[in-house]
Amino acid sequence: MSNRSIDLSDSLYDYLLTHSLREPAVMRRLREETATLPHAAMQIAPEQGQFMALLVHLTGARRCIEVGTFTGYSALAVAQALPPDGTVVACDVNPETTAIGKRYWQEAGVAGKIDLRLGPAVETLKAMLADGEKNGYDFVFIDANKADYDSYYELALQLLRPGGLIAVDNVLWGGAVIDNAAQDTDTKAIRALNEKIAGDERVLCSMLPVGDGLTLACKQNDYIS
Ligand code: CA
Repeated sequence: MSNRSIDLSDSLYDYLLTHSLREPAVMRRLREETATLPHAAMQIAPEQGQFMALLVHLTGARRCIEVGTFTGYSALAVAQALPPDGTVVACDVNPETTAIGKRYWQEAGVAGKIDLRLGPAVETLKAMLADGEKNGYDFVFIDANKADYDSYYELALQLLRPGGLIAVDNVLWGGAVIDNAAQDTDTKAIRALNEKIAGDERVLCSMLPVGDGLTLACKQNDYIS
């Protein structure tokens, strides 16, 4: 027994998957195809996809943003959890990897819910604000360039409605956040955002040891951006 998060051995992780994962076949096949790509580790774990889908369901989210789509697994997980009129604005710079996602979105019957916007996400999010979409979204998943994490977070806070939820991926960064020798731009950006969120009174937050670390930050109801 322990009052801290448990270490997951391989066999305990297998147990967790066999006793909780309900991954549809279309998602499993997307995950398997992605595993053959050079940057396969960029894909979220299947139990994290299921957790995010549950969050979308629990919060009743209808309008979502994803910053960093890669091959579309998380967008697919979120889109399948949305009501029929729900949408995901999926931001990514890569036409090749997102084309893989598009095939599976089509096959799963949710392509109409996912609005892929190719281009740097900071520009896409700024354009959405310029279009008057401030306070217009329920859920934002941040998982693109680590160096831009702070910009994504600040723009997401403006795009979210009060009470809306941000999920930030890779906040433990394979443990590099506590490795003093790791002074690269990405690691420093993640550390800086973790510190900011920990003390950020605009949000309620929780850092979870899910996948590579997932921080949930709920925009305070009385914070009007
Ligand atoms: Ca990630």
